[in-house]
Amino acid sequence: MERILTQETIKYLGKRVRVCGWINSVRSHGKIIFVDLRDKSGILQIVFTPEKETLYQIARKLKPEYVIGVIGTVEKRPEKMVNPKIKTGFVELYPLEIEVFSKAKQLPFPINTSGYEISEEKRLKYRYIDLRRERLRRNLEMRQKVIHFLREFLIKEGFLEIETPILTKSTPEGARDFLVPSRLYPGKFYALPQSPQQYKQLLQVAGIEKYFQIARCFRDEDPRADRQAEFTQLDIEVSFFEQEEILKLVERLILNLVKELFPQKRISQIPFPIISYQKALEKYKTEKPDLRKTPSDHDELAFCFVVDFPMFEWKEKENRWDAVHHPFTRPKTEAISEIKKNPGKILAWQYDIVLNGVEIGGGSLRTYKKEVLEAVFEVMGHKKEEIWEKFGHLLEAFEYGVPPHGGIALGLDRFLSILLNEPNIREVIAFPKTGDNRDLLMNSPAKVMPEQLKELHLKIVKEKKSKT
Ligand code: ASP
Repeated sequence: MERILTQETIKYLGKRVRVCGWINSVRSHGKIIFVDLRDKSGILQIVFTPEKETLYQIARKLKPEYVIGVIGTVEKRPEKMVNPKIKTGFVELYPLEIEVFSKAKQLPFPINTSGYEISEEKRLKYRYIDLRRERLRRNLEMRQKVIHFLREFLIKEGFLEIETPILTKSTPEGARDFLVPSRLYPGKFYALPQSPQQYKQLLQVAGIEKYFQIARCFRDEDPRADRQAEFTQLDIEVSFFEQEEILKLVERLILNLVKELFPQKRISQIPFPIISYQKALEKYKTEKPDLRKTPSDHDELAFCFVVDFPMFEWKEKENRWDAVHHPFTRPKTEAISEIKKNPGKILAWQYDIVLNGVEIGGGSLRTYKKEVLEAVFEVMGHKKEEIWEKFGHLLEAFEYGVPPHGGIALGLDRFLSILLNEPNIREVIAFPKTGDNRDLLMNSPAKVMPEQLKELHLKIVKEKKSKT
């Protein structure tokens, strides 16, 4: 018999149906046993009475989280037993057959609470149990809705969604790369993308004009509470857009998203204020101002754009200039001598989008003039040969007809965690790592077999005692 969802039973009054799921709770009232069955749609009450001896004996042994299938008849509940809090609250199932698919040990923690009170180590180790929690299921559902919305919106605006490689070459986004050794090319490595930056620019040279991707990015950064080694961006790149047009696009996208999926939220200011980096520092003492009128209000969203960042910043430790955003950002001047002479004074076509004091995205117009890009790399301390070795593919591509272009990336995990009032991004990711980059569920990073290392031409020089 075909299985239906528990929430569909309300359409089958008096009929025989089959439902499957997990046991949410078992309660005895006198001689009657009530089993709440949970599936992805919600909860349904099943009533076992002593008259049906065999079924009753099975029911007596049922425990929470057992997985069962039940065939039974849907009946109206007696008036005073109606539970208005749940959708199936006016019906209950009288079983005719039951099958116990699997038993379950006592769970390591409760799943009928918010979960915030449980140690995160435990929650992540048993994430598949943690995810049974209603709050997390809702977060995953909202994540899908948001991604679906973004896709639809951008496709309607003429954007093309394109997947770019995961095994690629280092792209400088200011973090360390994750490297993947090549078996076929001894001593050579792929890098996991810190972002699809160079590919999305190459797609502009390819004439795509409007690109987007829900992109996974990888950055080997030191542990920070609100960072993950891998995270998801809404990555966008367009040709022939000015900065203002890109900001307008993002604003429109966000306004529509909030209106459609988070109608209870109030946006403090529309259009989103545009503040210069300098002004932000002077007035708010931060480049990520929190412009909420009532910061304790959960439903207030205060967006702003911060623009006109300096192109370079001096890295004391490394004794060199570095790009504030990334080297592909277009300086506000194209005078090469000025860029080289006064790097600290040059501004960039760079913009961040800030929400409630958190940077949720950033982007820039890109340098599409080869000489300017070379000058930027030079300021950052790269030698000419090195520039060509590392970025020759891009510089060469720019010799075959490159449109002026620019883009932005929104950190989806972070954006979502704010929209959902979650305290950190791990609450909106199905299988996050710990703050110090461990996957407690899979127990990774982990050792590999000596044969694997050999195939990859790798040798572990010295094994340090690891934390785990
Ligand atoms: N690639 C940049 C980042 O990941 C975003 C951009 O410039 O479009 O931050």
